[in-house]
Amino acid sequence: MERVALVSGGTRGIGAAISIALKAAGYQVAANYAGNDERARAFEAETGIQAFKWDVSSYEACAEGIAKVEAALGPVDVLVNNAGITRDAMFHKMTPGQWSEVINTNLTGLFNMTHPVWTGMRDRSFGRIINISSINGQKGQMGQANYSAAKAGDIGFTKALAQEGASKNITVNAICPGYIATEMVMAVPEKVLNERIIPQIPVGRLGQPEEIARCVVFLAADEAGFITGSTITANGGQYFV
Ligand code: NDP
Repeated sequence: MERVALVSGGTRGIGAAISIALKAAGYQVAANYAGNDERARAFEAETGIQAFKWDVSSYEACAEGIAKVEAALGPVDVLVNNAGITRDAMFHKMTPGQWSEVINTNLTGLFNMTHPVWTGMRDRSFGRIINISSINGQKGQMGQANYSAAKAGDIGFTKALAQEGASKNITVNAICPGYIATEMVMAVPEKVLNERIIPQIPVGRLGQPEEIARCVVFLAADEAGFITGSTITANGGQYFV
């Protein structure tokens, strides 16, 4: 029996690489996305992976969307909470809207996506939840009080849920990518990337989405059942205390 994996924000960037890698590893994959239909259709045509549109910041939309995925593919065994946004601003200029959009998508989105699959995972005594946090949730980043707060929250959520899932063979882990070459990072001005960001990365380059996907496939495996509540960093050697 093929296991079923659902990847939020799974049609481009890191999420697309995760969807593709899980399919290559033998999973039946569903990729969620927010609104970029053109990219989703191109992704479906290229990969043969079905894309499902809903907004992870809405609990009702997640419950409905996951029901559609499960009707199409079967119960979700592996959930990758990858969807995320940035709304950067220095704190004195940050609006309540910028704060709440990021918290609702990057933190509450994890509740909204995980809650509808949790009971089924408990009933079947198997589940893998993999949350894509960020280096900036570990160390904080100026201009990203909203994002850093949400991504740090993702780590706390991971650790608490890992304890709840442990007796039911449900593992819950977080991955903290450093700077990865996706549209999210390519939106940073080239001068800032080359003069400020890349020099901080010991390996001397941005990461590739496939390098995060590799961690996800590792954690998703049936054989990874002893790894839970952990935070895997994949950041090119950046170190901070
Ligand atoms: P991208 O901006 O390239 O892609 C984001 C994906 O998330 C898209 O598929 C998008 O859908 C989807 N998405 C955004 N908002 C929602 C929503 N409300 N509901 C459903 N789907 C949504 O992002 P990245 O690939 O760069 O980032 C992926 C994850 O990795 C994020 O959580 C990010 O915070 C994290 N991360 C990224 C790093 C990086 O350097 N790139 C570093 C550390 C962490 P659509 O195409 O429809 O817009």
